[in-house]
Amino acid sequence: MNDVRDVLIIGSGPAGLTAAIYTARANLRPLVLEGEPSSTSDQPGGQLMLTTEVENYPGFVDGIQGPDLMAAFRGQAARFGTEFLTVKATSVDFSSRPFGVWVDDEEYRARTVIVSTGARSKMLGLESERRFMGRGLSTCATCDGFFFSDQPIAVVGGGDSAMEEALFLTRFAEKVTVIHRRDTLRASKIMQERAQKNDKIEFLWDSVPVELEGDGRLDGIRVRNVKSGGESRLDISGLFVAIGHVPNTAILAGHLDMNEAGYLRTHDGAKTSVEGVFACGDVQDHVYRQAITAAGSGCMAAIDAERWLESVGTD
Ligand code: NAP
Repeated sequence: MNDVRDVLIIGSGPAGLTAAIYTARANLRPLVLEGEPSSTSDQPGGQLMLTTEVENYPGFVDGIQGPDLMAAFRGQAARFGTEFLTVKATSVDFSSRPFGVWVDDEEYRARTVIVSTGARSKMLGLESERRFMGRGLSTCATCDGFFFSDQPIAVVGGGDSAMEEALFLTRFAEKVTVIHRRDTLRASKIMQERAQKNDKIEFLWDSVPVELEGDGRLDGIRVRNVKSGGESRLDISGLFVAIGHVPNTAILAGHLDMNEAGYLRTHDGAKTSVEGVFACGDVQDHVYRQAITAAGSGCMAAIDAERWLESVGTD
């Protein structure tokens, strides 16, 4: 077992790293379990590692690349003494204090835990998705749209994200087909109108992709009409999945209160259902989901943790 820490932070997106900056500057020696490299958006640095230009993070007049922004967050946290481990937490025990967090058999103990494990894109659940990820299949138009200049591509989903992705992709693509499982969109009226007015966007209603095809790279998909059951092939070189997000809370089930979608419930700032455990960022926010709001909530979690430690004493 390792030393008992004052603060242990799980996750290293904008929320976790902001919590690290604040708690490190408060001399609380935070340890960050930053995750492991992967392509599912719970990698070190979080979802911004999968984006290119970030133009709405305040302070960067000309914008900044997502990975560069996260490298700056991390450097700033390290400067004040944050320790990092490039590992993924595999289980927790918040039933007694100090709290326990495990990475396989390795146990870490801390007086407060800040959970900032984020959320990730939902996938369709097709076996072929694994084969084509990064080879024509993407969950991030801003990251990958550029690679599909003058090509036919498709977006799956009927929400605001799907409309936003489709509209963005018309900058590059020859044509964008929006594939939606119903015949009415879930997206807000304004986004629906924008998409429907765009000449490059077509809609394929009542349909779902059932197979991705191609030899090495995606060159088409099989689509099933959910009403008739009929299948057809759509020739596309890119498929963008925009069917929502799921919070990374699997290891927290049964330990912290969450809503029906699995997002952690917080109250009075960053407090969770367990005293001394705080949550920030997308793991507890399915509404705003912005880097700046995640960072803001990381600051709240740090201040809440600091005050809580003061109130119970650190011995
Ligand atoms: P969402 O609103 O939950 O929409 C997900 C869409 O994907 C729905 O149309 C859903 O179909 C479809 N879908 C879900 N699972 C599917 C599956 N397995 N196969 C096929 N289709 C599936 O998610 P979102 O678009 O990511 O938006 C999330 C929140 O962020 C919303 O509150 C949204 O307003 C907000 N947002 C806002 C903006 C903006 O204002 N610019 C941009 C992005 C997101 P059904 O409709 O049939 O359920």
